[in-house]
Amino acid sequence: MDTQILDGKATALTIRAELAKATAKLKAHNVKPGLVVILVGEDPASQIYVRNKDRAASGAGFEVNTIRLPETVSQQALEAEVEKLNQDPKVHGILVQLPLPGTLNAGAVVDCLDPAKDVDGLSPRSVAAWTLGRPGHKPCTPAGCIELLDRYSIDISGLHMVIVGRSMLVGKPLAALAMARNATVTVCHSRTQDLAGHCRQADVLVAAVGRAKLIQGDWVRSGAIVLDVGINRGEDGKLVGDADQAGMMGRARALTPVPGGIGPMTIAMLIRNTFCCAARSVGLDPEVLLAEAAACTEGAEA
Ligand code: NDP
Repeated sequence: MDTQILDGKATALTIRAELAKATAKLKAHNVKPGLVVILVGEDPASQIYVRNKDRAASGAGFEVNTIRLPETVSQQALEAEVEKLNQDPKVHGILVQLPLPGTLNAGAVVDCLDPAKDVDGLSPRSVAAWTLGRPGHKPCTPAGCIELLDRYSIDISGLHMVIVGRSMLVGKPLAALAMARNATVTVCHSRTQDLAGHCRQADVLVAAVGRAKLIQGDWVRSGAIVLDVGINRGEDGKLVGDADQAGMMGRARALTPVPGGIGPMTIAMLIRNTFCCAARSVGLDPEVLLAEAAACTEGAEA
């Protein structure tokens, strides 16, 4: 079987081009989407993620600012920073780069976010919205997984999705979004017994653990779709996913690469969420603007 590579990088570029067009239209309403990223400490992976987000959002015509705070920042000062941004009309989206240093209470910081500006979809109101299937911001990585499947016209309705990982950032919200698409969902974690057996049942297998090549090639049923969310450094320093990708080639029907799979899609969703906040701030329907931009991009590509 030929394994189709689900190219998140190319798909994200298309989405970003659509967003740039839609953003240009927003300018007619004197709105420039504003994104602020709060980065605490010096975590090297977070520095790279933040730089990539900054580049992508700037490229789409956004105003992007990164607030860098020392690891020693107090909980009170960090929450005050969030409150200040909540009040700033030029700021449409606020992202607190996680994880925060262990001395800080990340949950309490996220609780301070104005839900209308919570572009990561992690504040309590956003969590309620995606859990209940109501409109609201969806967390960027799971939204990126669903969007990538959509863009490849892969319908998960009725399929069995097995998600390895139950974090608030990936596994839990993805389970909710996949159920909303009528998938049958199993969520596995560190206490799951017979992980390989569960994985072998999957029509769509999602690896979101953070352990290089944990998911072996022969854990994948022939013809399954594999979304590899994990980002790990291999022994040679190169980025690798949670899945043994070489072992899945010829076995999986489709596979997301690492890098170039879910990572760029996550950033594209962050930009889209910020765009939506900006459009709503002046009473415009972001979906209408995005549909027009997508139609315009398709026309240009044809
Ligand atoms: P967390 O550490 O928050 O969660 C990891 C999950 O994996 C937990 O639910 C944990 O179980 C489970 N787990 C750990 N070990 C095992 C095991 N041996 N068998 C089965 N399950 C296990 O990680 P995140 O969800 O934040 O991230 C997961 C991966 O995705 C990381 O590599 C991260 O870098 C990557 N990531 C990628 C993004 C992207 O843009 N592509 C964005 C976000 C994350 P338990 O709950 O029992 O502890």
